[in-house]
Amino acid sequence: MEHLSERLKSLSPSATMAMNQKTRDLKAKGIDVINLSVGEPDFNTPDHIKEAGKKAIDDNVSFYPPAAGFQDLRQAISDKFKRENNLDYSPEQIVVSVGAKNSLANVILSLIDKGDEVIVPAPYWVTYVELVKLAEGINIVINGALENDFKVTPEQIEAVITPKTKAILLCSPSNPTGAVYSKSELAAIAKIVEKNPNMYVITDEIYEHINFVGKHESIGQFESIKDRVIIINGVSKAYAMTGWRIGYIGAPLWVAKACIKLQGQLLTGPTTNAQKAAVVALNGDQKCVTDNNKAFLRRRDLIIKLLKEIPGLETPVPEGAFYVFPKVDYYFGKANDSIVINSSNDLCIYLLENAHIGTVPGEAFGEPSCIRISYATSDDKIIEAMSRMKRALSNLK
Ligand code: PMP
Ligand code: GLU
Repeated sequence: MEHLSERLKSLSPSATMAMNQKTRDLKAKGIDVINLSVGEPDFNTPDHIKEAGKKAIDDNVSFYPPAAGFQDLRQAISDKFKRENNLDYSPEQIVVSVGAKNSLANVILSLIDKGDEVIVPAPYWVTYVELVKLAEGINIVINGALENDFKVTPEQIEAVITPKTKAILLCSPSNPTGAVYSKSELAAIAKIVEKNPNMYVITDEIYEHINFVGKHESIGQFESIKDRVIIINGVSKAYAMTGWRIGYIGAPLWVAKACIKLQGQLLTGPTTNAQKAAVVALNGDQKCVTDNNKAFLRRRDLIIKLLKEIPGLETPVPEGAFYVFPKVDYYFGKANDSIVINSSNDLCIYLLENAHIGTVPGEAFGEPSCIRISYATSDDKIIEAMSRMKRALSNLK
């Protein structure tokens, strides 16, 4: 007999993790699957960062950490905010967590009460709406148009603000679309927030360093709303450290204190040697970051070129992150001998089973006409995967 809480019953599993698992399962059976589902750099963590993690083990940095994270890491993050973003966050305003996902959960649970409305621009990253549900908040989803690179407009945001609006969740560069909000677009959103004094901005900047249009712009730069902005970031994507699980926030002091309290009960604190590795990632040579960015740009150009050769797809050119988000509904209603494609979910299953490529259905990101393809993999795999995809799609009539 199962007696699951209502809270857990209403929670959907992570679609990105689920597709990753399905792909891994096929691989384990010896099938040559190309995994373009989960979003993680295919690069190894740079050696100097790994050395710091190993040294921490040898130095017996193995006791409980402070709930907020080690002070040297909070200082390194504070310095990073100043150096890269010209933002002033004291170490006390910084909380280190087990990945940016954990940071987001802390912030949402600290800010959102039952019935609070959270504006979530779609396509959104799968986890946002689930965390809001966990906090018993209400997701107010607004969809960006493909013609606007899937970005939402200030008018769309303003139209859904009510007295219950507590926050808006921004993500730039975006997962899943790769869209990047410009400084003027962010300024226009900041103006709206300024006019609504009970509204907070949770801005997910985990893809900050994977940006093909120049300098990263944070909505945290606008002084008039700075005390209502919480920045989410981490080392997973920039330094190829997804498995180390270190994320962080820069936030108003009272939000940081709330997250530390929550973390003290839920987590104790983030893993010690991973924190020491993160200090070196942030303070050390940043060449690995720029090198990886170059590789992602080359791969973006490659996959966009190959996607253009597939009939029926419409793909905005991403300006950051490492995803493309083609519109695939041209194939809905088409079939081969054994399967009819009625949704992006059907299409992803078809591509997995017939072309042996793992992708993620747009449904999970609030945009059912699209699928997400991660191109954080080698050029050869991108070429092979797109050729498989082209062949499989051409078999749908
Ligand atoms: N935000 C976004 C937009 C992401 O794509 C991810 C993916 N991992 C995260 C947060 C979480 O990052 P982390 O691996 O540090 O938990
Ligand atoms: N953020 C990555 C993705 O969207 C990793 C998976 C996850 O954390 O959900 O695929």
